[in-house]
Amino acid sequence: MDKKQLVIIGSGPAGLAAAIYAGRAELHGLLLEKLSPGGQVLITDRVENYPGFPDGISGFELVDKMAAHAKKFGIEQRNDEVVSIERRDDALSISLAGEDNILTEAIIIATGATHRSLGVKGEKELTGKGVSYCATCDGPFFRDQVVAVVGGGDSAVQEAIFLTRFAKKVYLIHRRDELRATKVLQKKAFDNDSIELVWDSVVEEIIGADSVEAVRIRNKKTDQDSVLEVQGVFIFVGIQPNTGFVKGLVEMDEQGFIKTDEWMRTSEKGIYAAGDCRSKPLLQIVTAVSDGATAAFAVEHDLS
Ligand code: NAP
Repeated sequence: MDKKQLVIIGSGPAGLAAAIYAGRAELHGLLLEKLSPGGQVLITDRVENYPGFPDGISGFELVDKMAAHAKKFGIEQRNDEVVSIERRDDALSISLAGEDNILTEAIIIATGATHRSLGVKGEKELTGKGVSYCATCDGPFFRDQVVAVVGGGDSAVQEAIFLTRFAKKVYLIHRRDELRATKVLQKKAFDNDSIELVWDSVVEEIIGADSVEAVRIRNKKTDQDSVLEVQGVFIFVGIQPNTGFVKGLVEMDEQGFIKTDEWMRTSEKGIYAAGDCRSKPLLQIVTAVSDGATAAFAVEHDLS
């Protein structure tokens, strides 16, 4: 069986940056992606803090440029899903859902993270019927309607602002009396007349027969229940890493993010992690790209 030097799993910004660096270093590598390149950035309307784009750039366009850049340096790309990884003597064996296993000397895990759900009554049943986790995808369906956004981090605040392009009113429901989002985003939200902050409140239930009609919320300070009539509920309450397939193989933190050293090496020899699936203080495109470059550099260094 053809043995690779490096397999990069996932083609968001971390995986694509790793692919650029690995391609330029002429490593015999493969970039594996379940669907199409991009990861979470694809559903980000506007990226305002990636250096080099002072006017901002759409997530789709940014990732499209990164994918073209990776392609230019010639790394082989394939669509398949990784089921598991195991050590075989001095190599690592990757089991795929579709094709045969792959043998490789090194792996960079760049599988990113996905949204967390609230776990409340009505959420699952009404997903796609007014409950959404992607404002860029579903925002335009709520023109002149009233929607709720749940969460207080950068995602919730940024997407609430985005949704005011379509919705006539956006309730931003947060469980505390202070937002977690960066100050610049907070200010934009506070200055936006279409956004109404609902503080200290948690969603208890999403109500609707065939589509969302309302949310029942509870104020944590007063313990009072109330109902907000909305046609859409956008949930941005954080993310969880896509690392289930390496559970038990590499060391993780309590939330399942992979622990690495500053070279992006995990606890398992030959396995590296980069981007949002890695345990670190700042999950951003710019840090994902930096991780990817460092990981590819570490692979090149360690193999030689
Ligand atoms: P996050 O920063 O973890 O924020 C999650 C928010 O959801 C917090 O406000 C949290 O409340 C709230 N929350 C968590 N569980 C909840 C629950 N069960 N019920 C109600 N509320 C709940 O997640 P994120 O906003 O998705 O961002 C993830 C990472 O991506 C962050 O590092 C962020 O900086 C980055 N990001 C950056 C940008 C940008 O730079 N423009 C945009 C998007 C995301 P508490 O505050 O009370 O914990």
